[in-house]
Amino acid sequence: MASIPQFIRNLLDRPGSAGLGPFRRVATQAAAREDRVRALTDLSRPPIDDLAEFCAIAREAAHRTLDMRPFDVQLVGALALLSGHVAEMATGEGKTLAGAIAAAGHALRGKKVHVISVNDYLARRDAEWMGPFYEALGVSVAWIGQSSTPEERRRAYAKDVTYASVSEIGFDVLRDRIATSTADVIVPQPSVALIDEADSVLVDEARVPLVLAGAADPGTDAPETAELVRRLSRGYHYELDEQGRNVFLTAKGTDAVEKALGGINLYETPDMLTRVNLALHAHALLTRDVDYLVRDGRIHLVSQSRGRVATLQRWPDGLQAAVEAKEALPASETGEILDSITIQGLIRRYPEICGMTGTAVAVEEQLREFYGLKVAVVPPNKPCVRVDEPDRVFGTVADKERALVAEIASVHATGRPILIGTLDVSESERLADDLRAEGLDCVVLNAKNDAEEAAIIAQAGARSAITVSTQMAGRGTDIRLGEGVGELGGLYVIGSGRHASSRLDDQLRGRAGRQGDPGGSVFLVSLEDDLITHYAPDEGLPTADDDGVVRHKRAEYVVGHAQRVAEGAHLEIHRNTWRYTRLLERQRDLVLEQRDKVLRGDSAAEALATAAPERWEELSALVGEPVLREVAREIVLFHLDRCWTEHLGFMSDVREGIHLRALGHKLKPLDEFHREGVVAYRRLLDEVERRSVETFATASITSDGLDPLESGLKRPTATWTYLVQDNPFGNAFDRVLKRLTPRARRRQGLEEA
Ligand code: ADP
Ligand code: MG
Repeated sequence: MASIPQFIRNLLDRPGSAGLGPFRRVATQAAAREDRVRALTDLSRPPIDDLAEFCAIAREAAHRTLDMRPFDVQLVGALALLSGHVAEMATGEGKTLAGAIAAAGHALRGKKVHVISVNDYLARRDAEWMGPFYEALGVSVAWIGQSSTPEERRRAYAKDVTYASVSEIGFDVLRDRIATSTADVIVPQPSVALIDEADSVLVDEARVPLVLAGAADPGTDAPETAELVRRLSRGYHYELDEQGRNVFLTAKGTDAVEKALGGINLYETPDMLTRVNLALHAHALLTRDVDYLVRDGRIHLVSQSRGRVATLQRWPDGLQAAVEAKEALPASETGEILDSITIQGLIRRYPEICGMTGTAVAVEEQLREFYGLKVAVVPPNKPCVRVDEPDRVFGTVADKERALVAEIASVHATGRPILIGTLDVSESERLADDLRAEGLDCVVLNAKNDAEEAAIIAQAGARSAITVSTQMAGRGTDIRLGEGVGELGGLYVIGSGRHASSRLDDQLRGRAGRQGDPGGSVFLVSLEDDLITHYAPDEGLPTADDDGVVRHKRAEYVVGHAQRVAEGAHLEIHRNTWRYTRLLERQRDLVLEQRDKVLRGDSAAEALATAAPERWEELSALVGEPVLREVAREIVLFHLDRCWTEHLGFMSDVREGIHLRALGHKLKPLDEFHREGVVAYRRLLDEVERRSVETFATASITSDGLDPLESGLKRPTATWTYLVQDNPFGNAFDRVLKRLTPRARRRQGLEEA
């Protein structure tokens, strides 16, 4: 009869996702071997072709070394990861261990595994925590952090399993791409990526380009332009679009700006138009303390999806300078973009991808569309008993905030711990002030470092704790309930507003009710929240009763609708970015293939000897073949890299200008971009050859090789890396669109299919 509940459980597996049946069977078989395996002394290198045996031994290894006996659902999760799925497992279910079991399995199959975390703190914590487990299985492991030296990185990548944040791996890959000797290459061929918090890496941050820049120039600030736009008024000189994401000059505004600039025609001076638009963007769309902070005389970006200060991030140069000008700060250095890769492009390099997260089903479609991944929904070890209350909707922000403080005060009086998730840093700070004014002590988490945040949030389940936190602060950290807190109802999570995606709401809720703990959650929403005003502006809004509460049934619909519109808008941006970056990333792969032949082989020497045989003979006699081959390599690598950088710059200009040109010619912008891209790519290859031959013909080459200065082959003296913040306004494409009014765009059929 035991098969009946199993049968029913299989039926209950969510539609559209992978069935767990086969994984469950393996877990059951593993359990049957537990007693025998317990007697083994050596657990090293278990057989991976017998999955049940592998699971039994991995379970025993975890039990012995970590004092955690993996639950069946953790084995099921690990098996889902081993077969290339995204495993959905709720917060607190023990994904770190499930992931380590899977990573060990992949490693035993002979693969190098990168366990990709969202930040350095988690990479290190998990690698160190799981270290003894890997050791018992005979699998080597290491981690990489921002301050790891090249040598440490190389050693870490040589291990079977390497833990690192997505940006560290990405920057290593980018730096490798300009290495001029094989000895400088750090990252081995990609093999398996196992991604923690997979939805945030694969979907939310997928569009973020990681950028390698070089050759610093002082930036050009534009204080006059900032001053100029400061005098413009919204609604008269400029308008925001319905969603508040784009800003554009009105005819009046254009006249005023042109006059102020001495009677120029803006649309005939594209440079000036760009500067004005950037300044206007900085002025009207980016808000201090919401989108960025000013600290130590510098701009610090606040990451929208993480709700915290994003280190090492900046906007694209022009916008960064415009914001610096707006805040009257000196312009920071700018650089030339040597190369870049989106997180999506980075992850797609891996032949095998798998991942885990508490919220995958909501992005099932994207995971399939962009990565060919399927979701496996793993049930919790103990049923979740958290009570998720329906939203409480208020007419105004003021009413909502008053209710929020009152709710916190009354629940706090019982001793129950409360975690309040806010949408941004300034909101956290406002709320903390309000709470303190009521005599309520609270801890605020927003823009500190990950390790500190983890330590603080771990205490959020203590009796009487009030913790105010932006969305992702302290994520990945377990919140355990303090003494007697279970009887009080467990952790109570309050969202101060619904997020732009239901996944983010669910992640916040998931902070409570881990492993069958009691817990509760509720969101307070106002009809004046950005989500509603941006994404459901035309919906007839229900009205509030005298106490400020909206009780009309329609409120629930409006909130859900706004969220779905927001999710749709973000998906469309993701698709669009991908359409544009795909061509460049494919071209980059082709160039890198050539580059690799030059770096590791003799293709540069062959090419130059063929193109300039006499010169080759002459130099060969003079300096000897080995030196000459090295020189040939240096010359071709230099020009390859240089031409690629120029190609990137050119294509970014094309993309910036394409909508304006398409406007005149009725071309589809994406087609036009592709056409230009293909032509430019052909030119690039010819140009590499032409320049290499020219350098080879004219440079003075001695037995010491080539003098880089004298030959003009000077590489950037310093390189640095940054993430272009994935803010909804950030990329060049969006900025271009913003120069056109929405009406003009629609008229010209420029909204992309
Ligand atoms: P997740 O990443 O899924 O949110 P973690 O991996 O951070 O969860 O684990 C949450 C907590 O559960 C940790 O404190 C860990 O020690 C504990 N844990 C995980 N697996 C087990 C297990 N099999 N037995 C006991 N405790 C476990
Ligand atoms: Mg985790």
